[in-house]
Amino acid sequence: MTKKTALTLIISLIIALALIPGVFMLAKVLRKVEAYDFIVNNELWFTIAAEEKTTCEQMLAEYQQQYLADVDQDAQIKNVYFLQKVEFRETEVQPEELDPLTYAQERIYAINEETQRIEVQDGDNLWDLTKTHHLELGELEILNPDLDPDKIYPGDSLVIKPVDPVLDVIVELENTVAESIGFRVEYRKDNTMYTSQRKIIKEGIEGEKEVVYDITMLNGYQHSLNVKSETVTRQPVNAQVRIGTKTTVSRGGSANYGVVNGKRISSLFGNRIHPITGRKTYHEGLDIAANHGNSVYVYTSGTVVQAGWNGGYGLSVLVDHGGGLKTRYAHLSKISVKVGQKVKTGNKVGAIGSTGNSTGPHLHFEVIRNGQPVNPLNYI
Ligand SMILES: [Zn+2]
Repeated sequence: MTKKTALTLIISLIIALALIPGVFMLAKVLRKVEAYDFIVNNELWFTIAAEEKTTCEQMLAEYQQQYLADVDQDAQIKNVYFLQKVEFRETEVQPEELDPLTYAQERIYAINEETQRIEVQDGDNLWDLTKTHHLELGELEILNPDLDPDKIYPGDSLVIKPVDPVLDVIVELENTVAESIGFRVEYRKDNTMYTSQRKIIKEGIEGEKEVVYDITMLNGYQHSLNVKSETVTRQPVNAQVRIGTKTTVSRGGSANYGVVNGKRISSLFGNRIHPITGRKTYHEGLDIAANHGNSVYVYTSGTVVQAGWNGGYGLSVLVDHGGGLKTRYAHLSKISVKVGQKVKTGNKVGAIGSTGNSTGPHLHFEVIRNGQPVNPLNYI
């Protein structure tokens, strides 16, 4: 072998050695597959094969849909999106760098904290429960859209903290619901009748309005709720009641609802439609918001037939006035009468409170005629 041949051989060998990584690299490049990175707030969550992108998008849509499960069928869904910045970015990776869809699903469905629930105990008071669990007033109602303050009982489960998923879903919707408009009661004084007497000349009829709500939900719960518009579809018809003026019982105060000095009517009698779920609940009484401790007076003379704790009504009193008429006073803080006791108009039955399932001090006043609850607005 000549010196020259040997040199050529060595050079060829060096070139060949130098080429090996290049060949491997070329092989690697050729093995690379098209893929998508799933990026959340600029953080790479997973990488999937290009052909799995559609399935992954469906998975994301399904994930979002679970937060729409409780929304009224008639509501208009305007927008569904993630709170985080979510994107698919085209890439090329080695097959072994691809993540399986099961892993993608795990990441999408990951949660920071599970839903926290409590079980209603006998004698529990929603007012105290909200304080114990550091909830804002009304928040409990948002977390439990099916909550009917007058009808929840020990053993019922209440959400006190919503699920906290890693990927947050925002739903924007609009819903139109029919709501009642309370009527006013016009009193006609009659000096031929005693103060304990009253006569309904004309029954009031509640009006109706269509309320359009603009709602934003975060992970299935109401985040914001605004009234977009209101259209009166039926004007209320005021009730006319004749009241006696012979010997007056002075109750003074801001707004005299006959049975209590209240601030305002916080909830009307009749159907209530939840603006998000669209579900109907029936309110058998009239809620009058009033200061804690305010006196509650019996509607008219009668006999006390129930006085004490009564499920969701908390401390409550039921009075039988005869002739098929009964009145109930619920969520009291104190009771001043006993079962069997005869009461007269102007007698105190108790004091305003928020016992039972109540989210704030108010009187739940119920009028029962022949076993059926009727609109108390016709009676006060
Ligand atoms: Zn009520």
